[in-house]
Amino acid sequence: MSGSSGNRSDVKLRKFPFPFQAMLAIANDVDEEQIAQFRELHRFFNTRAMTRMGEGLGLDIGDSFWMYGPHDYDLMTYWKGYDWGIKNHAEEILRYISCGWIDSLHSYGDYNDQMAFTREHALQAINELEKQGVHLKVWLNHGNSNNIQNFPGAFLTHHSASHLKGDLPGTPGYHTDVTIPWGIQFVQDGTLNDQLGHDSLLRPVSLWDGQQIWGFRRLEARRESPWRKGLRMVLERWGIKLTYWNWHPERLGEQLSRENLDSLVENQHYGVVGQHLGIRRQDLDHSAVEGLLRLKEKHQAGEILVARLSRLLEYNRVHQHLDYRVFTHEHKTVIDIRAVNDPVCGYFVPALEQVRGITFTGALDPEQTKLCLAGVELNEEDLIRSAGEKVIGVRWFEPDYHDYTQ
Ligand SMILES: [Zn+2]
Repeated sequence: MSGSSGNRSDVKLRKFPFPFQAMLAIANDVDEEQIAQFRELHRFFNTRAMTRMGEGLGLDIGDSFWMYGPHDYDLMTYWKGYDWGIKNHAEEILRYISCGWIDSLHSYGDYNDQMAFTREHALQAINELEKQGVHLKVWLNHGNSNNIQNFPGAFLTHHSASHLKGDLPGTPGYHTDVTIPWGIQFVQDGTLNDQLGHDSLLRPVSLWDGQQIWGFRRLEARRESPWRKGLRMVLERWGIKLTYWNWHPERLGEQLSRENLDSLVENQHYGVVGQHLGIRRQDLDHSAVEGLLRLKEKHQAGEILVARLSRLLEYNRVHQHLDYRVFTHEHKTVIDIRAVNDPVCGYFVPALEQVRGITFTGALDPEQTKLCLAGVELNEEDLIRSAGEKVIGVRWFEPDYHDYTQ
């Protein structure tokens, strides 16, 4: 925590955007997801329209996509197959990127059935995305052993990633020298994680080519059920962990259990739920919908802020390394957000969009406080104040319920 470098220590940074106590994102891997399914899922997640799974939740939930994939053209791929000759769902994918329904790359493609990735695939993809003005920050980093484009450097245990080449210079799959400068700053860190809530989701990752990037954790697995507790304890004594993946849609309700959501709020934690919501090629079942309704309730109650993955990770990074100064000037409190002292990506002055949600509290009268970004006072419409709670902050993103499938 960089914290305040000014002379007033009675003003503090609040952990989450006011009034929330926790933050959660759903990180969906696009495996097997067909475009028709994607449309209906996001009408349900993001809008308030009537859908096959019920009335739209109106939550900010993003998704991922692929540039390349198998010759099943219903999948969420930009191009048809494994080259860059013919577009598949490019136009629609670009529309969803620009509205935020897509904010992550699940690597460059689905090579599960074909080991076809080469460095040229990365170069062509970046060239095309640059041409479209698209820069994404989040890379979802796994796949079967054919998916050599992923980054072994992000895995804590390298033996489980020895087939990956993405950040290994001198191999045909090496591409992070172009992919990181293009925009990727956050990578799913590949570590099997069975806990939803964390104080921070981020840890610095050193890639094999020497570049630094942020790794983040998501809930993807679960310890074996309690009735086998005895067996589990015996095995764990031998260093064997009984876990199963819970990143499939029939486990979404379990991931979003009341217990998990309550604990997120109680501990003021960040949480990311890893999923493959399209993998069964059917609508979400009753338990998954129930889980999402529990989440919506917590969001509406002002407890858990549901945010797309890129926004949550950006908030986590900026909050944790914010450089700000608090001082008194002409009987007013002035808070100046100076920069983000990011130990991985370097010191930078953030844009307004990067400080959305940053909130201060403590010994302040919000009406008598000025909030500045790099010395420039922020506009009133970009602020949130609460006299009762003594908070002033940068307003979070406005909700957007528009149906972008239309
Ligand atoms: Zn996946």
